[in-house]
Amino acid sequence: MEKTCLKAGITGGIGSGKTTVCRLFQTLGIPVYDADYWAKWLIQNDESVRKSILEVFGENAYLPNGDYHIAEVKRQILNDRALLEQLNAIVHPAVFRHGREWHLARAAEGHPYTLKEAALMIESGSYRDLDTLIFVAAPEALRIQRVMERDGRSETEIKAIIRNQLPEAEKEKLAEWVIHNDGQHSLVRQVWTIHQALLVRSGHQPA
Ligand code: ATP
Repeated sequence: MEKTCLKAGITGGIGSGKTTVCRLFQTLGIPVYDADYWAKWLIQNDESVRKSILEVFGENAYLPNGDYHIAEVKRQILNDRALLEQLNAIVHPAVFRHGREWHLARAAEGHPYTLKEAALMIESGSYRDLDTLIFVAAPEALRIQRVMERDGRSETEIKAIIRNQLPEAEKEKLAEWVIHNDGQHSLVRQVWTIHQALLVRSGHQPA
């Protein structure tokens, strides 16, 4: 069987444990693309993204020293929600293209698969480009508790973010794999099972 490099994605609501699960895949040698990190990087460093943001938000979108002025952009979005869609229409396709190139580079290195982590992968539609999707599920109360402990954010604030994301059940339906991160099931065992299956599917020897 010919070897390929599959594109896997990992998603889940805020505080579900995406990053925690990705770390486990990384310890197995799987490269992880952090879409949030690269979105910020592209906003700061990509000339065409910067130009488009300046066109929409004006010259105050960047500080005189060239740094992205996120507070100013957030202020404008609070006054006009349509601007959020315009920002997403600039950033999402840029991350999509960058992620594709990143994947090709990892494929050339011989990896069996890569993992793309993004909270809004389903909302943005970018999951359609994947070979397989993993969904991290955790009870809402536990997610709220974990994020409160991690970020010191209030329960009200976290609930507002949750209401802005698609319902869990909708997302779970689109995933091939569901990892239960509820403190009852072993994460290592669940990750190992998926890893073995993806090694076989990509034509590599199971570990
Ligand atoms: P976000 O959507 O905010 O990026 P996330 O889905 O990436 O969150 P994590 O950051 O992995 O979630 O997890 C949220 C918090 O819960 C972290 O502080 C993490 O250490 C903790 N956590 C996640 N899973 C577990 C677990 N199984 N046991 C204990 N703590 C956990």
